[in-house]
Amino acid sequence: MNAVAPVALSVRNIHKSFGDHHVLKGISLDAHEGDVISILGASGSGKSTFLRCLNLLEMPDDGTVALAGEALKMKRRRDGKLQPGDRRQVDRVRSQLGMVFQNFNLWSHMTVLQNLIEGPMRVQKRSRAEAVEEAEALLAKVGLADKRGHYPAHLSGGQQQRVAIARALAMHPKVMLFDEPTSALDPELVGEVLRVMRTLADEGRTMLVVTHEMGFAKHVSNRVMFLDQGQVDSDGTPAEVFGELKSERFRQFVSSHQDRNAH
Ligand code: ADP
Ligand code: MG
Repeated sequence: MNAVAPVALSVRNIHKSFGDHHVLKGISLDAHEGDVISILGASGSGKSTFLRCLNLLEMPDDGTVALAGEALKMKRRRDGKLQPGDRRQVDRVRSQLGMVFQNFNLWSHMTVLQNLIEGPMRVQKRSRAEAVEEAEALLAKVGLADKRGHYPAHLSGGQQQRVAIARALAMHPKVMLFDEPTSALDPELVGEVLRVMRTLADEGRTMLVVTHEMGFAKHVSNRVMFLDQGQVDSDGTPAEVFGELKSERFRQFVSSHQDRNAH
C-alpha cells in the first residue's frame, strides 16, 4: 500500500439493502494515490453494488464516500433513505471516477472518436480541437489510432473495451473503477485489455478493479480485497491475502477459480 501517498478515495461503512436483502454490510476502504486494488468475490457478493455506491449510481443506505478529501453530500429523507445532497457535485464527482463496465457501454451510434470527445466537450466544456487532440493521443496509447472513424459494432470486444478505457481517461479521472472489464471477452482478447490496464497501473493511476483475473490480482495490484456476502473477508497485499490463504472462504474461492480456469 502507498500509505505515504495522499488518500484518493475514502469509503466508510457502506451499507446497502435491496428490500430485505442486506447486500453490503459495512464496507470501508481507503485508496491511496497510485493504489491498484483488486476486489474479488463470488457472484452476488456485492462487488458491483459497491462500485456503484461510490459514484452514487446506487444510493447507499448508510456510509460516506470522499474523493480527494471532498465528501459526497447525501441527505436523509423522511423515510430514512439517503439521496444525493447536491446534484451538480454528483455530476462532477462521477466525471472524476472513470468507470469501465463489463459490457463496454459505448455509445453505439457514435464513432470511436465521438465516444471519446463527447464527455470532455459536453461535461467539461473543453474545445473540440483540444478534445480531438487528446482523444487521438489516447487512442494511440490503447493501440487503436486507426479506428477513430469506426463504429463500436465493427470492433472486437477487446477493441471496444480499450476504447471504453480511453473514453474514461479522456475525462482525467482521479480514480478509475473497473467492473469485471474482461469477463465478457473471448479468452483470446483478455490479454490486450489487461495489458492496457497494467500500463495504467505502472503509470501510477489509482484503480479499483473488480475482477476474476487472479494473475492481475496477484501481480499487478498492490492490494486485494475479498468480499464475502457483503462483508470484507480479507484485505491486504497480494502476498498477505494469497500467500498463506488464511481465510477458509478465500481458499475455497481461489480453488473454485482454478478449477474453472482449467476447463
Ligand atoms: P456481484 O457484482 O458481486 O456479482 P451484485 O452487487 O451485482 O454482486 O449483487 C449483489 C446482490 O444484490 C445480488 O444478490 C443481486 O441480485 C442483488 N442486487 C443487485 N442489484 C439489485 C437491484 N437493483 N435490485 C435488487 N437486487 C439487486
Ligand atoms: Mg458484478
